[in-house]
Amino acid sequence: MRRPTSSGNRTPRSRAASQPEQLGFEGMPERLFVCTPSKLGAYADCPRRYRYTYVDRPTPPRGPAWAHNSLGASVHTALRNWYGLAADRRRPEALPMLLKGTWVRDGYRDDEQERAAYRRALDWLEAYVDSLDPADEPVGVERVVAAKTSVLAFNGRADRIDSRPGPDGPQLVIVDYKTGRTGLDADDARGSQALALYAYAAERVFRRPCRRVELHHLPTATVAAYDHTPESINRQVGRAEDAARDIVAAEKAVAAGSDPDEAFPTTPGTLCGWCDFRASCPAGVQTPAKEPWAAVERTLLPPPPLDGQEQREDR
Ligand code: SF4
Repeated sequence: MRRPTSSGNRTPRSRAASQPEQLGFEGMPERLFVCTPSKLGAYADCPRRYRYTYVDRPTPPRGPAWAHNSLGASVHTALRNWYGLAADRRRPEALPMLLKGTWVRDGYRDDEQERAAYRRALDWLEAYVDSLDPADEPVGVERVVAAKTSVLAFNGRADRIDSRPGPDGPQLVIVDYKTGRTGLDADDARGSQALALYAYAAERVFRRPCRRVELHHLPTATVAAYDHTPESINRQVGRAEDAARDIVAAEKAVAAGSDPDEAFPTTPGTLCGWCDFRASCPAGVQTPAKEPWAAVERTLLPPPPLDGQEQREDR
C-alpha cells in the first residue's frame, strides 16, 4: 500500500508540478479552471481526496467498486434509455428489458443481494414512470451543459432538462435522479451547488430561463424542488469560483515546491469510510472500512422517515 507523505516514501508526481505552463505568465490572463460538479464536490468534501483524484499521478489505487454506485448507475442509464424509446413504446413493460440491459453487477455481497436490489430498482422505476407523461420530450437527457465565468469553465451532465410552462413563458427545469436510502427536502435542492451550476449553464446554452431545480428521489417517490433567483444562482457560482481559486492556489503552491500534504489537507470524518482512497490516506486508514455493499444493504431495508440523518449514498 502506498501512502503519499512529504518525507519518507516517495511522493507521487503531481500533475500541477509536471505542467508548469498552466501557471500562466505575468501580464497574460490566467487560464480558466476547468471543472465539473464532481471535481468541485471532491474538493469541498476533502482537499486530500481531490488531490488523490485529480492531481497525483499515478492516481493512488482505488478501493473496490461500491454496490450503491452500481445500483445508481443502472437506474440512471435505464431512465436515459427510457427516453431513447419512441413515445408509444414508453410503457412499464419495457422497464425489465431496459434495466437488465444496463444492470451493473459490481460490488454486491452475493447473487441474492443483487437480485433483491434489481427487484427493488424495478419497483422504483415502475412507480416513477407511472408519474411521467410518455409523450413528454425533455430538452435534454444526460445532456452536457457548459458555461464560463471569468474564473472557471464549467461542464456537467444533467440527468434531465425539462421545458415547462412558467409565468413568463417556457422555462427549463433541472432534474437530478437520486437513489440513496434517505429522502431529500427543499434544503437539499436549494443547497446543491451542482444543480445551481447546471441551471446557470443550461440557461446560457439554451437561452431560456432556468431557475427551478428538482431532486427526484426514486426510493420514496418524492420530489424536492427549489426555485432559484438569479441572485441565489450567482451566489452558488461565486462559491464555486472561490473553491476554484483555492484549488488553483493549492496546485500552484505544490508546483512551487510546497508540501502537497499541507496544500491539500485531510478532513477526516464520516465520509472516510466511503472514500475510494481510504487505504492510501493516512487519516482514512484509521477509519473502519465499509463493506462495498453496506449502503445497498440499508437501502433494501424499509425506508426511514424523511428527516432521517443517515449517510446519503447518492449518485
Ligand atoms: S479517507 Fe477521508 S481524509 Fe482521506 S482522502 Fe478520503 S475523505 Fe479525505
